[in-house]
Amino acid sequence: MEIDNKNPQLFSNLPLVIAGPCSAESLDQMLAVAQSVKTNPLVKVFRAGIWKPRTRPNQFEGLGEIALPWLLEVKKATGLLTAIEVANADHVEKALKYDVDILWIGARTSANPFSVQDIASSLKGTNKTVMVKNPINADLQLWIGALERLNLAGIKDLIAIHRGFSVADNFEFRNDPMWRIPIELKLKFPELPIICDPSHITGNRDLIFKVAQKAMDLNFDGLMIETHPNPDSAWSDAKQQVTPEKLLNILSQLQFKNNSCQSKDYEFNLDTLRKQIDRLDQDIIESLKYRKSLVEKIAEIKIGQNVSALQIQRFESLLKDRIELAIKHGLDPAMVKDIFGLIHEESIRIQTDLFDQKH
Ligand code: PEP
Ligand code: MN
Repeated sequence: MEIDNKNPQLFSNLPLVIAGPCSAESLDQMLAVAQSVKTNPLVKVFRAGIWKPRTRPNQFEGLGEIALPWLLEVKKATGLLTAIEVANADHVEKALKYDVDILWIGARTSANPFSVQDIASSLKGTNKTVMVKNPINADLQLWIGALERLNLAGIKDLIAIHRGFSVADNFEFRNDPMWRIPIELKLKFPELPIICDPSHITGNRDLIFKVAQKAMDLNFDGLMIETHPNPDSAWSDAKQQVTPEKLLNILSQLQFKNNSCQSKDYEFNLDTLRKQIDRLDQDIIESLKYRKSLVEKIAEIKIGQNVSALQIQRFESLLKDRIELAIKHGLDPAMVKDIFGLIHEESIRIQTDLFDQKH
């Protein structure tokens, strides 16, 4: 992908903040938020939903085109750039007509390659800034695919938005952040800015600070936070919106991290610890190699006695023992369970491969 962010002022050393209501409700509502949030220089973009994808019919689906001139008013009054969600070619055409600065593709739309292609084709030759939210399902390829469709249509000014993934059993949050997925996106496309949307991840205004701080600790390039003058009476996403005062408070409490540090001490200390980690990782690989040789011996014995590879009681007791050990040593039991699940799966694979060779 060829990324070229034409708004360098959006991404300086400090994070970009995008704020504004989930849905545009009136010009007064939008101006009230915009005037207030722009007092923090990190806030450079005003967002508002004009067309709202709703899970069930007969809910408020956005005011539509009548709200587009209000965005122009906001831009004129505050100097903030404007951003809206587009879900089809008609939305794009209207957004271009009203000179909206930044368009974003929502999570439901980025999960649908046909819709993304329609949007990409209608943006050809426009040189717009486009943000792509992760698809609602945890599929990195689909997210990358949406970005690539835009890129192939000549859109180089791309930004990814991490808004979490829909999962069956929601625990703490409305959407599971699964941080490893945006991190993997960053590894694949280091030039692509990624901002975090803690409003849609948490679904709960009391948890927004915590997730926003985590995003800053992980070196995300910015935040999109839904902001409403009177969140409890918002027409959509009432529980997760914050007042402009609360947004300013969150921003003033966040600790921004540097990407690196020039100090000699820092370099030396980190280098020393990383060398120890490299050695430990080598030990882990050697142990896995030795473990594999033991698994092969076990396979020989099982083959000799015509016994199956999978012994479910052994697997259960192995997992139970490793999890207890993890807890005793202060390690995360879920992480240790995952690792030994994988190790055991590999051990069964080695054994069944050997079984096949002997037949
Ligand atoms: C939104 O930003 O208001 C929105 C609908 O978000 P998402 O596409 O992440 O659900
Ligand atoms: Mn919303």
